Amino acid sequence: MEDLWRDDAAEAMVAAHGDLGERIYSARLLGADPRLVLHGGGNVSLKTHMKDTLGEMVSVLRVKGSGWDMASIEPAGLPAVRLEPLRSLRALETLGDEDMVNVQRLNLLDASAPNPSVETLLHAFLPQLYVDHTHATAVLAITDQPDGEARCAEVFGETMALVPYIMPGFALAKAAAEIAERNPQAEGLILLKHGIFTFGGSAREAYGRMIAQVSRAEDYLARCPRKTFKLAALPKNPRPPHEIAPILRGLASLPIDADEGLYKRFILDFRGGEAIRTYVDGAEVKRYAKIGVVTPDHTIRTKNTPLVLPPAAGDFAAAAKAALDAYGADYRAYFARHENGQTALDAMPRVMLAPGLGLFGLGHTAGSARIAADIAENAIRVVTDAEAIGAFESITEAEMFEVEYWSLEQAKLGKGPAAALAGRVVVITGAARGIGAATARAFAAEGAEVALLDIDGAAAVATAGSMGGLGLACDVTDGDAVAAAFARVCGHFGGLDILVSNAGAAWQGRIGEVDDGSRRYSFQLTCFAPQRVAKCAVAVMLAQGMGGCLLFNASKQPLNPGPDFGPYGLPKAATIALMRQYAVDYGADGIRANAINADRVNTGLYADGMLEARAAARGLTVADYLAGDNLLKREVKPEDVARGLVSLALANKTTGAILTVDGGNIAAAPR
Ligand code: ZN
Repeated sequence: MEDLWRDDAAEAMVAAHGDLGERIYSARLLGADPRLVLHGGGNVSLKTHMKDTLGEMVSVLRVKGSGWDMASIEPAGLPAVRLEPLRSLRALETLGDEDMVNVQRLNLLDASAPNPSVETLLHAFLPQLYVDHTHATAVLAITDQPDGEARCAEVFGETMALVPYIMPGFALAKAAAEIAERNPQAEGLILLKHGIFTFGGSAREAYGRMIAQVSRAEDYLARCPRKTFKLAALPKNPRPPHEIAPILRGLASLPIDADEGLYKRFILDFRGGEAIRTYVDGAEVKRYAKIGVVTPDHTIRTKNTPLVLPPAAGDFAAAAKAALDAYGADYRAYFARHENGQTALDAMPRVMLAPGLGLFGLGHTAGSARIAADIAENAIRVVTDAEAIGAFESITEAEMFEVEYWSLEQAKLGKGPAAALAGRVVVITGAARGIGAATARAFAAEGAEVALLDIDGAAAVATAGSMGGLGLACDVTDGDAVAAAFARVCGHFGGLDILVSNAGAAWQGRIGEVDDGSRRYSFQLTCFAPQRVAKCAVAVMLAQGMGGCLLFNASKQPLNPGPDFGPYGLPKAATIALMRQYAVDYGADGIRANAINADRVNTGLYADGMLEARAAARGLTVADYLAGDNLLKREVKPEDVARGLVSLALANKTTGAILTVDGGNIAAAPR
């Protein structure tokens, strides 16, 4: 493992952050390497001095706050806790977790600071100025063995002191401090089946020791004779991930009220690649994948074990359902074996291993699905190495339960009220600009995951990037391109729940005189393309079995035609018929279909003189056409149409309907 410390970079951080500079610098170096820590795992500290409110210098521990990621840590992520009161806790025999958190909070210099790390007391009880803690994969591969202690003694010798497995908290902090005192020569601690601490008088020293000790572990792994996994005989040509993901998503999502079509939905993050395939395709995958977590921290993100899926062939849906039912039964039995008054968490896996394909991470947002998949990849690295040199061994089931149902770990998951559309996947066509882009933004703001399709792929990617969505090039008049885009969406998110068919363009011309070519293309884009995307969306929705929502941008023209706009309005009329047909044919499947009738929205559709021409066709100035001609006297903006579409997505009992967004217009005669 390379030592990435650069003096000039460290000095720049000192210039920016004073005496916290080097602490922040090496924390970020450690946090950026997934072989050391992942997603909020690990922690660091510095013992220093600060002025309190009375202006008196007090010694403080600056320790990583809960919820902060080392890779992107800032001074605010290192709350200052008075050190002496923390140290005096060592005299206690026991200290409950809630009491520990309480006393840590009472001693914060800033009452609004985040909770100090659950491993704060361990940092406080060690005397060194700088303490670094990671869950390095190479170290875990050696300690997670039946003879892990002996192997560690061989690898690290006197340079590291060994601490037996104890759940994080007061007892571990006390034991670790005593062991460190008995081994004054040690430059750090190996916490068996958990991770590694190094310490030093400077950030440079603690970081350098972390890299050197983890490198020792890596060298040992490279030196050991290695066994490799025997591969299972799997069916040739399995169904691809994007085909099985919607089935899994439907099976895994948790019904809130299935009769009402309400589910707590999962997003699925798929990963392939050689290391993952070697692991999931192994003949013994059900043995080594089911042993347990590689470090206790992972339990809350991935549960103790993944689900091993049946091969993606034959009647996959039935076999996957049986596998999930068995996983749920096992989980409930595990809970019953260990509970003493806790409330059971849901019994769904957060990682699914798909032999012949790869793995899926599951979460209620794309972000948490990605974290689950990252952790699963990390665990695969550890277990692969551990099995290569010996036999992987985890903490006991009771110890895993203790961590999974530990109130302090549960707090890390942050249980704010879920956004209205959290867990829903929305596909929007024509999404790079105008109404499409505003719609994507509105859905993302409600917590949905958004996929933006546009004929201008670069613009779709750029617009999607600004809201954490997926941007794809897609010409909706091209059937292959549409199929490929939906496969990408399902591969990326695991499925979809809402389609907004928005792509369009406008043509004018007196209906008796328009040329057939432009009228035909108008039908291609405005009628056949919505049918093509709706068909793809419905196929995915049926595979999920959780209903769905189709939304079409229909415009005002088919309902209240203006002169010389037939080439635009005719296919839009067909879009409304299409919407109603979907509502009729798929209502029993819980799939709703609705349209929006938006009028006079000044977007790219009105470019190149179109706006002026349409205003003239209604006998109005441009200003009156846009705002002066409706009841509210307000211009309708893309954001207003977007809000209408979100409302239709939420209107759970509305189907076959047209929602008007035009500023109000009750005149009977066409205007
Ligand atoms: Zn830890």
